Parts: sequence; C-alpha cells; structure tokens
Amino acid sequence: MDDHIMSSLETPLRPDAFDLSDNEKIEIIEEHFRKIMDTLGLDLTDDSLKGTPQRVAKMYVKEIFHGLHPANKPVLRRFENKYKYNHMLVERDITLYSSCEHHFVPIIGKAHVAYIPNEHVIGLSKLNRIVQYYARRPQVQERMTMQIANELKQSLQTDNVAVMIEADHLCVMSRGVNDVTSSTITAEYGGLFEQDQYRNEFLMHIRKK
Ligand SMILES: [Zn+2]
Repeated sequence: MDDHIMSSLETPLRPDAFDLSDNEKIEIIEEHFRKIMDTLGLDLTDDSLKGTPQRVAKMYVKEIFHGLHPANKPVLRRFENKYKYNHMLVERDITLYSSCEHHFVPIIGKAHVAYIPNEHVIGLSKLNRIVQYYARRPQVQERMTMQIANELKQSLQTDNVAVMIEADHLCVMSRGVNDVTSSTITAEYGGLFEQDQYRNEFLMHIRKK
C-alpha cells in the first residue's frame, strides 16, 4: 500500500467504506434517489415510478457496484501447471459492463486477456470473473485495465500477462460530444508481452474471427 504506483491504481475508497451493511446502504441510497427523482419533478406516487428508488439502490449495491466490496472478490485457486503448457493462453471477447465514475452511466465493451503460464494456471472462468469483479464498480477504463492486469500477475505469479479492453462510453455517445462511433481502446502488457513477437501473436489471436 505504500507503493506509489499501486496506490494510484486503487479505486479511491474511504477506510470506513464497508462499515455499513449492504442493506443499510440500500436504504440510504433509496432515500437519496427518491430525492433526486422528486427534485426532477417526477410524481413518485405514479405506479411506474414508485418502485424505482428501491430498484436503483438494490442494483447499485448488489449488481453494478458489487465489485467495490473486497468480500466479493473471486476466490482464485491456482493449479499446478501439470502439462507444462508454456504457450500463450488467450481468452477473448469477455463481455464487459462497467460504469463511468465521472457520469455514472454505462461503459460497455469487450476485454481480451492472455497469459503465458509459469508454474501455475487458473480455471478459464476465473479470467472472466476477474474482469467482472473490477468492472462492477465506478471506473475509468485505464485504471480498470491495470487493475485486471495486476490481479492476473499476482494470481498467476507471472508478469507475462496482457489485457486489452475495447469499450463504448455512454457518456461520450449519448451526451457531450455525442460521438456514437468512437470507442476507446486500452492495453497493458507485462513480461514477455513487452516483446513484439508475443504482443503480435496476442493481437493476431484477438483479431481472428
Ligand atoms: Zn463519463
């Protein structure tokens, strides 16, 4: 935690972030969201609207921001690399739903991750779960990319990790500059992936359809 680079990579959370239980958070958010809707002039006695504050509060805590809580981090069991597989493993087109921390609207995209195993491997579904965990919190795409890469490096005990994210930001598409065709690409390459040969192989795999 004292390491400057690591700390700047962490999602800014207060030390008391998890003093409240999920249910307490849902109650408080519900109350505040009702006030937002009320301020906008919406009639909260309307049948269609009256359940919205509670739905939003539950969705925030239990779904789209579920990955804020360290207790929800996927448990990654490492397996011995029995087959001595020492080539690249690529998991591409992992569906990614996140939220922009500047506007609280969706970031929708695909993540591609790869690693070259050392002594250890992890189950394939765990790659998806790591992506999901870091996506389900208010994010900026650059930080999310680095957080996923660092988690993989630690879990797999190797620096040979590549992560690429291609995503659309609704805050760019539907408001502001209203650009509906642009998307954002971020990438992080560690270990052998810093070499052209490995990086190009990774890029070739994720482009092949
Ligand atoms: Zn935004």
